[in-house]
Amino acid sequence: MDFNDTPEEAAFRAECRSWLEANAELRQPGDPGADALGERTTPETVKEAQAWQKKKAEAGWTCITWPKELGGRGGTTMQNVIWNQEEAKFRTPPNIFGIGLGMCGPTILTHGTTEQKERWIPKMIAGEEIWCQLFSEPSAGSDLAGLRSTAVKDGDDWVVNGQKIWTTGAHFCDWGILVVRTDPTVAKHSGLTFFVVDMHAPGVEVRPITQINRGQGFNEVFFSDVRIPDSQRISEVGNGWAVSITTLMNERSSIGGSGGAGGMRDLFRLAEEVEIDGRPAIEDRSVRYKLADFYIRAQGVKLTGNRTLSALSQGKTPGPEASLGKLVGAVMGQDMAAFAMELQGAASATFDESYTPQEGDWQGRYLGIPGLRIAGGTDEVLRNIIAERVLGLPPEARADKGLAFKDIPTGPPNA
Ligand SMILES: Cc1cc2nc3c(=O)[nH]c(=O)nc-3n(C[C@H](O)[C@H](O)[C@H](O)COP(=O)(O)OP(=O)(O)OC[C@H]3O[C@@H](n4cnc5c(N)ncnc54)[C@H](O)[C@@H]3O)c2cc1C
Repeated sequence: MDFNDTPEEAAFRAECRSWLEANAELRQPGDPGADALGERTTPETVKEAQAWQKKKAEAGWTCITWPKELGGRGGTTMQNVIWNQEEAKFRTPPNIFGIGLGMCGPTILTHGTTEQKERWIPKMIAGEEIWCQLFSEPSAGSDLAGLRSTAVKDGDDWVVNGQKIWTTGAHFCDWGILVVRTDPTVAKHSGLTFFVVDMHAPGVEVRPITQINRGQGFNEVFFSDVRIPDSQRISEVGNGWAVSITTLMNERSSIGGSGGAGGMRDLFRLAEEVEIDGRPAIEDRSVRYKLADFYIRAQGVKLTGNRTLSALSQGKTPGPEASLGKLVGAVMGQDMAAFAMELQGAASATFDESYTPQEGDWQGRYLGIPGLRIAGGTDEVLRNIIAERVLGLPPEARADKGLAFKDIPTGPPNA
């Protein structure tokens, strides 16, 4: 492992920094945490985010690794990492483009035709069109291949019916990537096809879900006889699983191990602000012990992440170990939020910004962060990946292996 920038990387970092200094302000202690789940988005913040994305695109500071001819920078993965590290130090609008640029774009770049790339990628880069991911359904999350929404061919179109859920950002998106069942007579992974859907098309109904922390990040999306032209199909009919895997691999690496490390500085500040027995909590031995424990865990997450960075810098592809960062980071983030609530004592029970330290930011995190342990692979699913693909343990039994989808029982046994 080598954590130092090469001379070329250091020069690139300086270039990023100088553009950012000229165009944005440095983040300050007390700035709200990053809106990682897009829960605080309003029509105004969407406009601000689009303006920031346009500015970056015009100056060549977004989609660093994407081809130049489509509007990217044609740079390296390591340059992209460096840009992200530097941009995170500055005040920027909420990142509403994470799903588009982190998952939808890479999937279209890998599996799309030249016409499809030319139609969608440049406007995605410029922030003119915003994207969402329509995968999960009420009965298909971890077991995504068990999804039930269908598409049936009708002339040059496909007619889609069914329901998706937990669709982040669908209420302000223009396009979505969609995986649906086109053949129930074959095994569940083989009967899926991948499309791009116009979120403003007739028959698409988006119903926002209000969360316990008052956020409104995701939605239910209903499809009633929605027509999708065959030109919006990505890859061959029946190849939807392979295309979805490309999206999911990108999802895990873009969520990464940032679960808790970002809140460390805020937690130290909170321990300085609140008191125990008339003295700042940070002077209490048990509080210091806890803070040290979080700091050590955060360093572990950071150094494990650096292994991935080191592999990228040497041109290698990171392996399934990346699941470790997501698993440990999300659990740690939740533990930190719970400790921040304990530190606040009775004030933790109110969500009123005027009574709570740090304007209720920790209350919001405490209620929202369980989502990070689910999105992009639940804890248990990540443990299965680590067990099977990192440790080489035997795979779990799969009772529906080889069965045609239509023959998989849907109810309880003997129902
Ligand atoms: C904040 C957030 C944003 C999201 N955004 C999107 C989005 O934009 N688009 C989208 O399509 N989806 C999105 N999702 C949905 C997400 O992908 C699913 O919630 C996730 O895949 C889990 O599926 P599920 O909720 O159906 O739970 P289930 O898969 O039903 O899991 C229920 C429980 O069973 C456990 N379990 C399941 N299978 C196994 C197994 N094989 N072994 C052991 N335990 C198992 C799980 O760990 C979990 O504890 C989002 C979710 C969250 C929380």
